[in-house]
Amino acid sequence: MEKDCIFCQIIQGEKQGDFVYQDNSVVAFKDQNPQAPVHILILPKNHIRSINDLSENDRPVISEMFLRAKEIASEMGIAQSGYKLVFNVERGGGQYVFHLHLHLIGGWQRKES
Ligand code: AMP
Ligand code: ZN
Repeated sequence: MEKDCIFCQIIQGEKQGDFVYQDNSVVAFKDQNPQAPVHILILPKNHIRSINDLSENDRPVISEMFLRAKEIASEMGIAQSGYKLVFNVERGGGQYVFHLHLHLIGGWQRKES
């Protein structure tokens, strides 16, 4: 827990979050400023600053994040229509919240071509 981290505060229940999943190691909640009809953030409960701070010990939680992303996409009904999984890395890569998070984005109505 990092006291000034907004995502740690949500995980601790100190700040409101619209949760769609949680277990011992991972949580998922709705992005407050969605960029698509479905926009969920999936993150480790432990504070990891960014992809650049990953260590070998983080292997289990990283694989858990991807497996939960797949399940949540299915529950949200976008598994077949398709979605994006995105990590923004550092400020140049668009990262503004420095608690590792995976964006699950989808639900667009695309015309078949
Ligand atoms: P990034 O730019 O990859 O760091 O993404 C941070 C994301 O967190 C943005 O899409 C924000 O809309 C989202 N966000 C910031 N604060 C909150 C919050 N309190 N609850 C939910 N989502 C948030
Ligand atoms: Zn944090």
